[in-house]
Formats: sequence, structure tokens, C-alpha cells
Amino acid sequence: MSSASEHALNAHGLYKRFKTGRTHIEVLKRVDFDALHGDVTMVMGPSGSGKSTLIATLSGLLKPDEGQVAALGQDIWSLRQGKIDRFRLDHCGFIFQGFNLFSALTALQQVEIVLKYQGVPKREARRRAADALAEVGLETRMNSRPSEMSGGEKQRVAIARALAKSPQLLFADEPTSALDGENGQVVIRLLQRAAKSHGAAVVCVTHDPRLEAYADRIIHIEDGNILGDHRVVSTIPNSEPHHHRPALVGA
Ligand code: ADP
Ligand code: MG
Repeated sequence: MSSASEHALNAHGLYKRFKTGRTHIEVLKRVDFDALHGDVTMVMGPSGSGKSTLIATLSGLLKPDEGQVAALGQDIWSLRQGKIDRFRLDHCGFIFQGFNLFSALTALQQVEIVLKYQGVPKREARRRAADALAEVGLETRMNSRPSEMSGGEKQRVAIARALAKSPQLLFADEPTSALDGENGQVVIRLLQRAAKSHGAAVVCVTHDPRLEAYADRIIHIEDGNILGDHRVVSTIPNSEPHHHRPALVGA
């Protein structure tokens, strides 16, 4: 596929319907979507507009009723379930509103466990997990458990966990909505850095208008329809002037 190298994601004609009791509700109504490597693509829309459903269909978590999703050039919904799971494991990072951390594990273990599950040898998993935590500024919190961390710190652990495997596709669903403005800004800057220095396609869905300033592209969704799509000329620099790091974490 010739477009595969430019488009990290390319979806066409997505429909998703849910049955609730006797009625069906149509949550995605013939959605077309694409996202580029190196971009923070922000999908904005009110609560209930279909953002989480869209991200789930794009990332191999929820099969659409109709339509295709090409992710890194692969028609993911034509793959067998095991292959879809492997694709997610190898290429996708996820960041959610609720952090989704294991309460019993330390920050280091939260990140390590994903790498081990992916088949990375123990010693290398430990090194990469430590690097990823340092990258998000948590080098002194490696041994902290979620109960000992603030919301902002927990979300940074979740980001380290997502970034440690150097994903080409990074999906964030309302990543800042449980955070105050300052911590939200740290989180969105980390996502921005994943796109800029790492070439990941970052797809972030949110109803938080404060994040608009950090997007390369803003797509508006309402009631399951894409209403607008425009590129942003950002006034915010892409990397911090003081300690620019060329690469995110070890490959
Ligand atoms: P958003 O993330 O924009 O808030 P969602 O994609 O979560 O929106 O949900 C869109 C609509 O689909 C909502 O009306 C929601 O209630 C409905 N919905 C989502 N998931 C399900 C499901 N599993 N079963 C039934 N309805 C659902
Ligand atoms: Mg949602």
C-alpha cells in the first residue's frame, strides 16, 4: 500500500452500533479518519459523541460493524484475533483517564511487566523501564506504588509504560481530565514529545479545550460524525529549550 509510509492510520466508512434493550444506537456514522506519523492529532467532542468508541475501533480493541482500519499499512480488522492482539502489543501504546495501574506494583514494575509480556528479556526490560521513567521525570519514584503517588505522577507512569515499547501508534483517551492544569500540561507535552522526537502518531481524544494549543491537527466529532478537520499552526515550541533529548527511550 503506497500510503502506508505516510499514514500511520487510515480508516474508512466506520460504523458502530450498540444494542441497548430493544433499540440500537448508532455511535459512529460512516467515519473516515487518518493520522500521520509525527503529529498530535486531537479528536475533540462533547461527552457521548463517540470519541472512546472511535479510538477503540482504530486501535484494535473494538471491531466496527462496517468499515476498514489500516494501521501501519495493515488492514487490522481482517486479521485473526491473535494477530490483532499481537499488533496492539507490538505497536500501540495506550493512556487512559484512570491511569490503569496495578495497585500492588511499583512504578518500575508497572513498566517492566508490559515489556516482559511482550517478550523482552528481564535485564533489558528493567533497563528500558528505568529509562522510560527517567524520560518522564520519575527517576526518584521508581519504587513508589500508586497509593504513594499524585495523579500527575501516576499518569506519568502510565505514559512511561506506553512509551517504553517505542510504539508507532499512541492512543490517549482523556489523558488529562483527572489532572489539574499544570499536570495536564506536563502530560500533553510528553505526548507531543513522543510525536516529535519519536515519530509516533499520537491520537488524543478529549473534551478539554486547553489541549487544543498542543495539537498539530484538530478533528471535531459530534454525535458520531466528523464535523471539522484542520491543521494548527502552533505557537508553543515543540521541545523544551533547556534539556532537549533527541530520542525518547531505548529502541
Ligand atoms: P465519548 O467517549 O465521546 O464520551 P463514547 O464513545 O464512550 O463517547 O460513547 C458514545 C455513545 O455510545 C454514548 O451514548 C454511550 O452511552 C454509547 N456506548 C458506548 N459504549 C457502549 C456499549 N458498550 N453499549 C451501549 N452503548 C454504548
Ligand atoms: Mg470517552
